[in-house]
Amino acid sequence: MIKDPESLAAAKTFPLIFDRSRPGRRAAYPPRTEGEDLAELLGESQLREAPPRLPEVSELDLVRHFTQLAHRQFSIDGNFYPLGSCTMKYNPKINEEAAKLFQDLHPYQDPSAIQGALELLYNLQEYLKELTGTDAVSLQPAAGAHGELAGILMIRAYHEANGEAEQRRVVIVPDSAHGTNPATATMVGYSVVEVPTGPDGEVDLEAFESALGPEVAAVMLTNPNTLGLFETNILEISRLAHNVGAQLYYDGANLNAIVGRARPGDMGFDVVHLNLHKTFTTPHGGGGPGTGPVGVRAHLKPFLPTPLIVKEDHGYRFDDDLPNSIGRLRSFYGNFGNLVRAYTYIRALGKEGLRQVATMAVLNANYLRVRMSEVGFKTAFDRHCMHEFVAQPPAGLKTLDLAKALLDYGVHPMTVYFPLVVKEAMMVEPTETESLETLDRYAEILAEVLEHARNDPELLREAPTSTPVRRLDEVTAARKPVLRHSFVSPR
Ligand SMILES: *Cc1c(COP(=O)(O)O)cnc(C)c1O
Repeated sequence: MIKDPESLAAAKTFPLIFDRSRPGRRAAYPPRTEGEDLAELLGESQLREAPPRLPEVSELDLVRHFTQLAHRQFSIDGNFYPLGSCTMKYNPKINEEAAKLFQDLHPYQDPSAIQGALELLYNLQEYLKELTGTDAVSLQPAAGAHGELAGILMIRAYHEANGEAEQRRVVIVPDSAHGTNPATATMVGYSVVEVPTGPDGEVDLEAFESALGPEVAAVMLTNPNTLGLFETNILEISRLAHNVGAQLYYDGANLNAIVGRARPGDMGFDVVHLNLHKTFTTPHGGGGPGTGPVGVRAHLKPFLPTPLIVKEDHGYRFDDDLPNSIGRLRSFYGNFGNLVRAYTYIRALGKEGLRQVATMAVLNANYLRVRMSEVGFKTAFDRHCMHEFVAQPPAGLKTLDLAKALLDYGVHPMTVYFPLVVKEAMMVEPTETESLETLDRYAEILAEVLEHARNDPELLREAPTSTPVRRLDEVTAARKPVLRHSFVSPR
């Protein structure tokens, strides 16, 4: 009987595929070539000089390798994943069925042969226009951050067209913003001016007003903001920004809180990006593939990234003919499989269903916010939240230790140490797809972890003990990452 967790973990671990390699074992069966002249068959240039440095394993060992890796993965399909700002909601399996219907299409096919696919893309553009309150949508960008880049490039092109590009050098960003906002503005060549958060968790209106001037090209906001709070002064913010000729950019990562209920276009935003992998249930993937369509008000339409999908009497076609477009942002037509998934999600829920998404996302977040305060956590801002909220541990406890301990309970920690404006921030976003029982269980687990922390803080610093790897040295991992398995061929 193995007792201590370390040897238990070691006992459960089989060698990685590279170390299982033995000469001559095979999992693939290429056509027989005995007696064939390979040079003649394939061409001299296609012949290898040395065998590939690949592990040689049986099919069973190969299957076990990937199955075991898959089981180490933490996923929404397996466990609760309330990672604030990321909207880790369930990805319905019907989306996959729908995406599969299109798997035999090729992007080089003639538009006349793929009218169904184009109709789907066209309709998706129309739905996203309606949901965001914008006048035109491009499905091109491959992620939220990519959508931000598209948006700020369009704003720059707009100011250039008005002869104001020289004068407008500044982008205003709140101090609670996601890191991609200032990064995007900087990449496009702007300098970033930060405005502080007021005591109520919203943009400090006075500071905002004094940061405005004729040098401001854009204001980047998300609403609800990254503290999970609705910016109640948004119409005033929009009026002030437009008064000095600035454009208002909407970071759509938090649309889940308002989808079907309120529209960024109606709040005065000129450009909107959406994260289909957040609000519209396409998978996040391992760092991709995301999808970040952009919507704009009419005055920015000439600058949209191409191609757009247009509808004409005789059918649908790609439109590349936008002379002032910022151009293409990626190959082909956006992340097509994910566009099908998002379309399926919108069609499956319908208008009422989408409204219900926002309602339940906000209800779940407020429920968990109150449950967490009942078990001893502080809430950074004592007011109703939207789809997520920021909590803090009781004095003297470290967010990192509590987060690591949660891993031993098989649930994912919340987002930690973001936004930067709250000390020891724990940002929780349960999403609408979780049941009351799951939320209650999370609150119970959090209560247990707090109790451990109070009784035996040393034990907490050891956590996690049941994961494939224990607590990592994150600084060294970031500075000196080991990205290769050193494979010594047994040959
Ligand atoms: C996720 C997120 C982004 C960036 O989106 P990606 O799709 O990850 O590039 C931007 N802003 C906020 C608030 C986010 O949560």
